[in-house]
Amino acid sequence: MERPGKIVCVGRNYREHADELGHALAPDPILFLKPPSSVIGDGDAIVIPRLPAGLSRVDYEGELVAIVGSRLRRASAAAALEGVRGYTCGNDVTAREIQAAEEQWTRAKGFDTFCVLGPRVAAIDPSDAGILTRVNGEVRQRASSREMVVGVGELLAYISDCMTLEPGDAIFTGTPAGVGPLRDGDVVEVEIEGIGVLRNPVRAEP
Ligand code: ZN
Repeated sequence: MERPGKIVCVGRNYREHADELGHALAPDPILFLKPPSSVIGDGDAIVIPRLPAGLSRVDYEGELVAIVGSRLRRASAAAALEGVRGYTCGNDVTAREIQAAEEQWTRAKGFDTFCVLGPRVAAIDPSDAGILTRVNGEVRQRASSREMVVGVGELLAYISDCMTLEPGDAIFTGTPAGVGPLRDGDVVEVEIEGIGVLRNPVRAEP
């Protein structure tokens, strides 16, 4: 998959996930960016970086990701949906304790290999797609995109009110409940109905 020009993500877009982290839902979506240098694809290894004790937990976050197809600036929700090229599976890998310790999430979510995308871009209906995350074959997250607080069209419209979205940009739409840690030797899979399975081994940085 081509490397996106930018990767825009939303926090707390599923009520039960906000609850599990002890976060209140924000009145508007909370946006953050992941750097293009963090992107890997299907089959590539997610690398757990060397981190100090107490900050070493690295979590999976299975998410539906929209890939932008045409330039969007102050788009309506309907126009934003029209401007999507297709959807793919994403894993918004997160150093959870760093996220909790720091005011903003650039470092927690920006390590190399922390933006996992693939295995293909497909034209699916984003309003009711089943999302499953498995670790070593065991289901950890099971949800539907219909449970999003802010739907895909509204989310893209909201982002495009701030920054112009360009073809190839990737928009992570938030993770459902059930996040948890990854360990050296795990295999993590994100499966979305109509797209396929994004499967990655996990390695600790030597
Ligand atoms: Zn996320």
